[in-house]
Amino acid sequence: MSDIIIGIDLGTTNSEVAVVKDGRPQIIEVDDAKILPSMVGLADDGSLLVGRAARNQYVLYPERTVRSVKRKMGEDVSLDMGEQSYRPQEISALILERLKRAAEEHLGESVAKAVITVPAYFSDAQRQATRDAGQLAGLEVVRIINEPTAAALAYEADHTTAKTILVYDLGGGTFDVSVVRLSQDVTEVLASHGNNHLGGDDFDAKLVAHVVEHLKQSKGVDPSDARAAMARIVRACEDAKIALSDAPYAHIEEEYLLEKDGGPVNLSLEIDRETYEDMIAGYIDETLEAVHIALKGASLAVSDIDEVLLVGGATRTPLIQQRLEETLGMQPRSEVDPDLCVAAGAAIQAAVIAGDQVSGVLVDITPYTFGTSAMSILNGEPYPYTYVPLIRKNTPIPVTKTEAFETLYDSQEAIDVKVYQGEDADALNNTEIGSFRIEGLRDVAAGNIILTTFSLDLNGILQVTAREKSTGLEQRITIDNATSRFETQELDAARERLSTLIEGEARDVTAEHRGSVQAKALIEKAERLMDTASAEDKEDLVDMTETLRDALDSGDTGAIDEATSALTDLIYYLET
Ligand code: AMP
Repeated sequence: MSDIIIGIDLGTTNSEVAVVKDGRPQIIEVDDAKILPSMVGLADDGSLLVGRAARNQYVLYPERTVRSVKRKMGEDVSLDMGEQSYRPQEISALILERLKRAAEEHLGESVAKAVITVPAYFSDAQRQATRDAGQLAGLEVVRIINEPTAAALAYEADHTTAKTILVYDLGGGTFDVSVVRLSQDVTEVLASHGNNHLGGDDFDAKLVAHVVEHLKQSKGVDPSDARAAMARIVRACEDAKIALSDAPYAHIEEEYLLEKDGGPVNLSLEIDRETYEDMIAGYIDETLEAVHIALKGASLAVSDIDEVLLVGGATRTPLIQQRLEETLGMQPRSEVDPDLCVAAGAAIQAAVIAGDQVSGVLVDITPYTFGTSAMSILNGEPYPYTYVPLIRKNTPIPVTKTEAFETLYDSQEAIDVKVYQGEDADALNNTEIGSFRIEGLRDVAAGNIILTTFSLDLNGILQVTAREKSTGLEQRITIDNATSRFETQELDAARERLSTLIEGEARDVTAEHRGSVQAKALIEKAERLMDTASAEDKEDLVDMTETLRDALDSGDTGAIDEATSALTDLIYYLET
C-alpha cells in the first residue's frame, strides 16, 4: 500500500483536512466539525487551545489568542500569546499538528506527509514558511499547490478537455480571483488578483455597525466598549448573515445584552435581505473589479471563460452569485461545498502523488430548478406568471430556501401558490408540478408579506410552504419524487408534443395534401379518358373536372371531397 498523504487547506479563517478514500476525497472531522477555526490560544492555566476553543476565548482574551496567522506567514515578526512570543510558522504548525492528529485518529495510522494549499499570490518566502510550519508539525510537505488549482481539481478530478476556469474565492478574511487553465496534464494559474483584507468578516462588521446604531437610537445605549456584549453581537450578526443567504429576513435576539439604569437591555431586531445587500454592495463591486483585472492579467475576455467556480463560505451570499452571473453571463458552479473544496482538491493532488486512483467529488445536487410564479415585470411588462426560481439547478441537497412575496391588493384574503420545475422566465413555459391555496389572510392593505419556502431533501421530496409573516398562518404541499417526476413529466410532455405533431401531419396528409394530390391525379385520369369517351360522357367529365378544379382553387375541403367523390364515381362507371 502506498504512503498516506493528506491534503490540507490552511486558511486564514478556517482550515480543513481531507484524504482520498476508495477513490474519492473525504473531509476528516476535527472536534466533530469539518472546519477547524484557524485560531490558537493559551487558556488561563497556560494549556494550549486550537480551533473552536481558541475562537471562543478570542473576544475576551485577545492578548493570549492568535487569529489570521496566515497573513503573517513569511514575515520576520513574532506574535504574542500570553507571556510568550512565537513565529508565524510555529503558530501555523500548531494548527497543522491538530489536523494531522485528527487524520491519524480517523485513519488509525500515523501520517507523515501532506499536500498543503496556499493562495496563488503567495511569494517564495510565504511558501517556504508554510513548508517550515509543516515540518515543525511533523509533516513532510510533498507539494505546495495553489488554492484555485485545488478548487479546479475538486471540480474536475478527471478533466479530459482543456478548459479556462475562473475561481472566485471569498473567505472570512481574504478575497482572491484566479484564472486557471486546466488541461489533461497541467493546471496553470494564468493570473490572480485579490484583496488580503476583504471577506465575510467585513460583511459581519457592517451588520454589527447597524446593530450598534440601532441600540444607540432605540435604547440609548452604546455597547461599543462592552466587550462581552460586542462578542455576542458579532456572533449574532454572523448567524444573521448566514440566515440571510437562505431567507429574506433574519432576527437578532439577544436578551440581557447590557444593563441600563439597573435594568436589562434586550436586543431584538429584524433585518431584511435588501437592507443587508445595500450594506455589502460596495464590497461586491470591488470583487467584480478584481475579476476584470484578473482577466486582463491573463489577456482574456469574459467570453473566454468556460466555467466559474465558487470557493469560500462567503460565496454562499446570493447577491454574489447573482452579480457574478450578470457580469459573466453564466451560472457559477457551487455544487462542491465552497468551504471544503480546496481541501478536497489538495487530497486529490495528494492521492495522485501517492499513485492512487481518484475520481471526482461525489455530491448530491438537484438537476432541476424549482420555483414559483408571481406578478412581476417580464420583458418590460407586468406579467402575473413571472418565474421566481427558489432552488437553482446544481444546488447541493438537502436545501431550504425562502423568498418573500406580497399581496397585490387591499383585503386580499387568499393566494394561489404554484410550484414549477424549469428554467424559463415565463413560468407558463415550465412544468407545473403542484399548487395550493393559502386562505384566511389578514384583512390588510396590499403588501401583506407571504413567505414561501422550498425544501428539497435527499430523496427528491419537495416541500413547499407559504406563511403569512405577520400571523404565522401556514399552508403547505409535499411533492414526492420532485426530481425524478420531471423526467416522467418531461417525457409525457415530449410524447404529447410528438403525438400532436404526428396527428397534425396525418391531418395535413388526408385533409389537404393527400386530398389535393388525389384530386389532381383524378383530373389527369379524367383528361386521359376524355379522348376515348363519348360526347355525352366527355361533357360530364369536363363539367366535373371543372367543378373539382374550382374546389381545389377555393381550398374548401368539403367541396373538394364532394367533387372528388363525384368524379371518382363517374370514372369508375366509365371504366367498368
Ligand atoms: P471560509 O474562510 O472559506 O471558511 O469562509 C468563512 C466565511 O464565510 C465567514 O465569513 C462565514 O461567516 C461565511 N459564511 C459561511 N456560510 C455562509 C453563508 N451561508 N452565507 C454567507 N456567508 C457564509
